[in-house]
Amino acid sequence: MSTIPQNLQAVASAIVAAAAEAGRRPDSVRLLAVSKTFGPDAVEAAAAAGQRAFGENYVQEGVDKIRTLRETLPHAALEWHFIGPIQSNKTRPIAEHFDWVHTVEREKIAQRLSEQRPAGLGPVNICLQVNISGEASKSGVAPQEVADLARKVASLPNLQLRGLMAIPEPTDDESQQRTAFRAMRELFDGLRADGLALDTLSMGMSADMRAAILEGATIVRVGSAIFGARSYNKG
Ligand SMILES: *Cc1c(COP(=O)(O)O)cnc(C)c1O
Repeated sequence: MSTIPQNLQAVASAIVAAAAEAGRRPDSVRLLAVSKTFGPDAVEAAAAAGQRAFGENYVQEGVDKIRTLRETLPHAALEWHFIGPIQSNKTRPIAEHFDWVHTVEREKIAQRLSEQRPAGLGPVNICLQVNISGEASKSGVAPQEVADLARKVASLPNLQLRGLMAIPEPTDDESQQRTAFRAMRELFDGLRADGLALDTLSMGMSADMRAAILEGATIVRVGSAIFGARSYNKG
């Protein structure tokens, strides 16, 4: 009864179409399936349809799901991305269980993730979250402070700085969506021109992934278009 495989196909087609429109290779955009609030069964359904990368926002929910999936699908080689706000007393389970963290906005958090990464797991892949719309209440480092933070994070031993992430202010206006994503792309290009070896722009969700891909997203984080509407009163 699951529509998850059909939804995944529709999202994959939309990614290919947007990439083609931008003159980009279809494989230059990766799909991160955001499974927050959905159970392990939803991840299993998506994995059976070939999806490998999953995003989680809440530490305990994510760790529980990772442990469950390791038992139910031991050979699936799933990749787990942490995309939620990070409290400094919750960095250890993130460092121990996740392959990627998209929401680093402070040096202290990065230091803790590096210190707490278990030996033998390889570095954690990191994106710096940027407050690209300049909203006072939103998370993320200010654009003018990104270069400084990027240099500090790039020097930490157990982290691999991969790029930037943003959640721009929501709007239905595609040209406004594109303006924010273009600003991210310019920031990203500037850091690369300064010599940082970055390859990841994590931007675009269900409602604005087309605009994000047109402006250069390399990872789109898509939840509701794959798994359906979320109900937040769980757990
Ligand atoms: C929930 C979430 C998403 C997915 O949002 P949808 O609108 O369901 O696609 C993407 N990124 C982050 C950071 C999120 O918290």
